[in-house]
Amino acid sequence: MSLRFRFRINRATRFYLQQDRQLLTLSFSNKILSLASRAADLSDTEVLVESPPEWGAPVEVADGILWVRLPLPFALDHVNVYLIRGQDGWALLDTGVDDARIRSIWEELFSGPLAGERLERVIVSHYHPDHVGLAGWLAAKFNIPLHMSATDYLLARGLSHPAGSGLMRFRKGFLESHGVEPELASVVTERGQRFLDMCSPLPGTFRRLLAGMSLHLGGTAYEVLTGGGHAPEQVMLYGAKSGAFFSTDQVLQRISPNVGITPLAPDDDTLDEYLRSLGEIRERVASDVLVLPCHGLPFKGLHQRIDELSAHHHRRCDRILEAVADRPMTVGELLPVLFPRPLDPQQRSFAFAEALAHVNYLVARERLQRLESEGIYRYSANG
Ligand SMILES: [Zn+2]
Repeated sequence: MSLRFRFRINRATRFYLQQDRQLLTLSFSNKILSLASRAADLSDTEVLVESPPEWGAPVEVADGILWVRLPLPFALDHVNVYLIRGQDGWALLDTGVDDARIRSIWEELFSGPLAGERLERVIVSHYHPDHVGLAGWLAAKFNIPLHMSATDYLLARGLSHPAGSGLMRFRKGFLESHGVEPELASVVTERGQRFLDMCSPLPGTFRRLLAGMSLHLGGTAYEVLTGGGHAPEQVMLYGAKSGAFFSTDQVLQRISPNVGITPLAPDDDTLDEYLRSLGEIRERVASDVLVLPCHGLPFKGLHQRIDELSAHHHRRCDRILEAVADRPMTVGELLPVLFPRPLDPQQRSFAFAEALAHVNYLVARERLQRLESEGIYRYSANG
């Protein structure tokens, strides 16, 4: 099966990808990459392209792997999804949010560049709407199975149910106990409300992905890796033979994935889960793979990037310890210390969850202690 792809070039820019002795020529027009958070410092990893392709224009980034970039209605304005050539069609990894614009991009893809092709399965990395949003719609449209981790599937099902739509909403009282100012508290309590609007109904059955299992796609065995921190059981795929690693949201090139606390488990040590997952990936996956993330650009230099992300979180922990050296502080008071630049409401809500994750990590290691006075929690350095 061979496909030819055509790109509309506004401002012709050609980049040459030298990969596995195969020279690919890509043309791009969209040079604007707007990222939500540059908190993880700019990386020195080697990007294989300097700018992303147009929305919805498939680009072959490796033999039998197509990269499609979809717009998102957030400050982080895009998500990357991938088509992996399988036995009888293509496996799709992640889907974009459910809105009219993304549905029409998919319709155009299957009546244009992918006309006559079929999808054989949908694989979803984790429960966030930019990844799972159109999974139900695509699975029904092509009558194909959905593959997901059990935790993320069940969480997405829970959030898709009207009675469960508040699962991910922090209660106002909880936020106030952490010193969050009332204006931000009402913004944060809205979070999670929009899940239903951004997701098509999920199929009633799914195929469970578990760490260590193999998915065979078009003659290539992909090992399933899972990791916590950003989502409870996020799936990544590693083709050791093909040298491709779908890092999904766990390892991104320029930004640091949000590692937060959820209202479901406010005392969890999700930063520890995330750092342990980075360690496992570093051990399991070769450093010279082509990393295919769900945000930003494909890149090489996996181990270096993992080290940068891990150092970034340790620096944040150090900043908290410095800040509380003078006086005990609430998580609300730590927000401007950790995130000095202006943030939009959605980013502020992520920032709260992220600050609490770092605080929980330090409490679990007895480097911070939690003090309670009149229903407000403050944290001070231990010893
Ligand atoms: Zn995500």
